[in-house]
Amino acid sequence: MDKKLVVGNWKMNLLREEARELSGALVNLLGEGYDACQVVLAPPYTALEVVRNCISASNVDLGAQNVFGEVRGAFTGEVSASMLVDAGCRWVIIGHSERRHILGETNEQIREKVSLSISCGLKIILCVGETEAQREEAIRKSEDVLTRRRFLFSPIRTQMESALRSLDEKQVSDIAIAYEPVWAIGTGKTATSLEIAEIHQYIRELLTEMFPGSGNNVRILYGGSVKTCNIEDIVSVEEVDGVLVGGASLSVDSFFKIIKSVGG
Ligand code: PEP
Repeated sequence: MDKKLVVGNWKMNLLREEARELSGALVNLLGEGYDACQVVLAPPYTALEVVRNCISASNVDLGAQNVFGEVRGAFTGEVSASMLVDAGCRWVIIGHSERRHILGETNEQIREKVSLSISCGLKIILCVGETEAQREEAIRKSEDVLTRRRFLFSPIRTQMESALRSLDEKQVSDIAIAYEPVWAIGTGKTATSLEIAEIHQYIRELLTEMFPGSGNNVRILYGGSVKTCNIEDIVSVEEVDGVLVGGASLSVDSFFKIIKSVGG
């Protein structure tokens, strides 16, 4: 398996000058040759170029937060996978819960985004996770552990099967799965180590069932209110191959501490 992966998702934050300062300060702190873990910055589209320039001499990679599922054409306001490559991106986040739940993205649209991005050579961070209502329903309906698990895992199975079904063994090695329980994103609530381990184990089982040759090499990240105060616990979970960080990636001090906790 590749090195652990730490992704900073800046969401709709930071003007270009702020983005330049933050990415420049991060590269200074890490040092240009830092490669104990793979770091990816995902700024808003408007700041891709300034961040690309700041990180160009380092091992930090550029990522986008979204992509459109068509090659080109009359899709006002959208950005294609080849445009992201042209802008210097190596990665793209697909299926983030804010896009699924606020912007109404469907599993079918996510599958199209995944397959076009892969064909353009982008690496993908595919986000999956259950809502609070789905988790509560699983707890309510569970007469036994197996039934609880079946209900809990069901939304994740649907999201993963739909997004990955057209990929082959080679293509899936360009994917990292980010398990992000929706109720933990931006809320300050974090899943416990046991909850994270249980879902990551399930995701691994599903990956190896779908891709017997390469499912074991796909990195599985955790995301959802990752902070300096909980990163040590999260990264000590054996099944965690990295983290997807929102709010705490907007401060150089906290993001740097998180990266060092993951990579050393
Ligand atoms: C995210 O943006 O994917 C995320 C997990 O956000 P936060 O760390 O702020 O919960």
